[in-house]
Amino acid sequence: MTNLEPIIGLEIHLELNTNSKLFCSCVNETDPLQPNSNICPICLGHPGVLPVINKSAVQKSLAIGLALEGEVSEESYFDRKNYFYPDLPKGYQISQYKLPLISGGLLEINTGTKGKKIHLERVHLEEDTAKLLHPEKGKGSLVDFNRSGVPLLEVVTKPVFRSPPEAKIFLQELQLLARYLDISNADMEHGQMRCDTNISLRPKGSKNMFSKTEIKNLNSFKSVEDSLIYEIQRQAQLWEKNRAPKTQTTRGWDEKRHVTYEQRWKEEEQDYRYFPEPDLPPISFALKDAPIHIDEIRRLLPELPIAKRERFMREYGLSLANAKILSSNRSLADFVEKIMSEIKAWLISLETVEGTEQEIWKKNKNKLVTLTANWLINRYLPLTTSEKEFPISPENFAEFIILLYEKKVSSTVAQQILEKMVLTHADPDYVISHYQLQTVDDTKALKDFVKEVIDDNPDVVEKFKAGNINVIQFLVGQVMKKTKGQADPEIVRKLLEKKLA
Ligand SMILES: [Zn+2]
Repeated sequence: MTNLEPIIGLEIHLELNTNSKLFCSCVNETDPLQPNSNICPICLGHPGVLPVINKSAVQKSLAIGLALEGEVSEESYFDRKNYFYPDLPKGYQISQYKLPLISGGLLEINTGTKGKKIHLERVHLEEDTAKLLHPEKGKGSLVDFNRSGVPLLEVVTKPVFRSPPEAKIFLQELQLLARYLDISNADMEHGQMRCDTNISLRPKGSKNMFSKTEIKNLNSFKSVEDSLIYEIQRQAQLWEKNRAPKTQTTRGWDEKRHVTYEQRWKEEEQDYRYFPEPDLPPISFALKDAPIHIDEIRRLLPELPIAKRERFMREYGLSLANAKILSSNRSLADFVEKIMSEIKAWLISLETVEGTEQEIWKKNKNKLVTLTANWLINRYLPLTTSEKEFPISPENFAEFIILLYEKKVSSTVAQQILEKMVLTHADPDYVISHYQLQTVDDTKALKDFVKEVIDDNPDVVEKFKAGNINVIQFLVGQVMKKTKGQADPEIVRKLLEKKLA
């Protein structure tokens, strides 16, 4: 293996989240419907019916094509891909062959320390097929046509991946992009995003390409990565025995046994006998009165994930890891930005600070941003059930962070306040007074507790004085207990140390 390198390419199918199917007015919905309840003569492929292209499917395809920096074909059309299979009663799939909507394009991925540009072959639009169900072994198969005619976007990369993790990172990035653009839910578990991979090995330094193996129908990031790792080992052994693959083959992935297995031989491309779909007119974007304007779609593109991530790092000084988490969906990213702008406004409004807005922010942002990121990621997100709906408003969350920043509450009490804010959706002031969650910072009261604990635990105090300084943790715990957790443990520790010194 040391002298061999893997050459990997991906083919991804994304179900577009349009309202209706690609060529008919059936609702674009497959789950949780009764089988064969969402169908019509067009998506069943009855003879003589006429497909009509769904404008929104083309717009969504163009949106991701432009976001991927691909080249939009001025003229595009659909082809018939002819083959026989029970999930395709009309004997052909309406797809795109010669003139895809988008040619080329790229997506940058971050593989740890550096970025890598993943170049694409093409992005095209096609219809999905029906779904075959195999309820019981030996008892035949069933066909559910609900999925038939659902718009599918196919993204084909060039064979540019050199490791299984790279392929996985790319898929995650593509999923994020599809969700940012709201073109697909891109959930692999639900079949909204599906992946085929192709892989071959070659001696390091060689520029030749060898016969590739396709692995079909992978339905999780993990199975993509695992099946590629397995396949690299399998092919490396073949190379060692001088039996490197000589023809292109297709394999499946057995999740349970953790192996790939051989499937049918792949049809050669000409087997499909592609020819232009005569029932659909070509799509033209060049005409002045064209129903879809590329510039308009480009203008409406939101800030893309990679740009947002980089801006979060630049503007707020977040680490890459934190920027990634906080921009992992658009709602969360918007939430973060609103919190930051509230905090900034508060900071600038303080009478005690001097300087221009920029100077003030620059001077104080590190501490505030770190505090916000930590409380959001480690404490708040685990308390929320959905990544898109937040029980606390950004204004209230900002107020909460400010309390912590001004050291008006200890972190123990802050956790309780946060939990109650999630529960009641109320602001921190209300929660503090309603649940009596004031931090015990009355030094007189704390000092009394400290004295009590010292008097009650002479043997522990003895140990501390004998040099076993770790036992102070026990004493801190005892004082915290007396305050019902409503004191700052750091202050308690300092008071104890002072008293015992
Ligand atoms: Zn239909």
